[in-house]
Amino acid sequence: MEFVEVREGLARILIPKANRIYDAPVFYNPVMRFNRDISTLAVRILGVKSVVDALSATGVRGIRYALETQVEEVWLNDINEDAFRLIVENVKRNIEIEPELTGRVAKFQGAKRITVTNDDANRVMANNFRHFEFVDLDPFGSPMEFLDTALRSVRRRGVLAITATDTGVLCGAYKHACRRKYLAEPIRRELCHEAGLRILIGAVVKYAAKYDLGVDVLLAYYRDHYFRAFLRLKSGAKKADDTLKRLGYVWQEKNGRFEYNDDFLPRRPGAHGPLWLGPLKNQAFVETLLSAVESVPLGDPRKTPKFLRTLAEELDVPFHYDTHALARRNNFQVGKLTGVIKELRDRGHRATRTHFSPTALKTDAPFEDVLDALRDLR
Ligand code: SAH
Repeated sequence: MEFVEVREGLARILIPKANRIYDAPVFYNPVMRFNRDISTLAVRILGVKSVVDALSATGVRGIRYALETQVEEVWLNDINEDAFRLIVENVKRNIEIEPELTGRVAKFQGAKRITVTNDDANRVMANNFRHFEFVDLDPFGSPMEFLDTALRSVRRRGVLAITATDTGVLCGAYKHACRRKYLAEPIRRELCHEAGLRILIGAVVKYAAKYDLGVDVLLAYYRDHYFRAFLRLKSGAKKADDTLKRLGYVWQEKNGRFEYNDDFLPRRPGAHGPLWLGPLKNQAFVETLLSAVESVPLGDPRKTPKFLRTLAEELDVPFHYDTHALARRNNFQVGKLTGVIKELRDRGHRATRTHFSPTALKTDAPFEDVLDALRDLR
């Protein structure tokens, strides 16, 4: 294998040389710098002391947690042997300590305890029952095959951070796969990304409930063809009951009007879900991320602060209106997004842009007012 060195945040990482990232024997995706920036910042402001990066590839994520935050214990793991060797090499380069190597386990005993293993992620997490304050699942594809063990490995008031890159599945391009993986009915067209994110969170909520765990969403977003959610667990049957009540279904009509019920009632025909209908962010958490972002090392200094600002300003209500889709569905001409938002605000409603789409808005206005605002603008 030939390698090149990349820098990301405070880390210097060897990655395999390859023409396309998916051809590389060990996976490194520069687009995900943004995901790792937010995650590292989250670990930092949450004051987390122990983390597992269960699907580590080059180790970049866990190494950044070790270098850029206060964590005292980091566990990195990958089932691939090349990845394991590369992670060990990369940890060495960054902390300049020799590991104690026994078979497929490398232990670094420095200022921080760093463990690297070459094992199945589920076995690693199962062997560390209720141990980690922060469990990070960042696979390619669906995280579902790791979800149950992740919920057993995380502390009862810990944080589960979860990535899903199977957007085609969650967005309804492969309906049967969505039923199999997430036991949910996806929705196509303009709501598919937000609904996909909400289906993912809904699946976690259901899995967590059987352990008498409730879920608070610290932050969940869609970007660059993946979903990411930071979920704070809450211990207790009542907490789980209350969280389950936020699951429900959504319906959409031909003209673009949508409706949802957030009491987990049995479905009626044409319903999509079950999905999470609670908040997608904790405003205080997002604002803390935003206020810290200027003073920390970033892998993607161009994108990360800007996107956090969009998230902080976004109105947090279920679903959104895409101006292009609405115009098409109702034979209007497309009005300028900022114009529609202003029009809605002038009528006394709340309305903002949304990170889900550059042509969409979130509002608490009734559907008719959104249509009027679009129509009047022409
Ligand atoms: N989190 C990494 C990217 C991970 S890519 C980052 O931020 O850069 C997904 C990795 O999961 C691959 O390296 C693959 O080898 C590993 N993997 C797949 N199945 C696994 C399993 N069952 N247990 C452990 N690792 C696994």
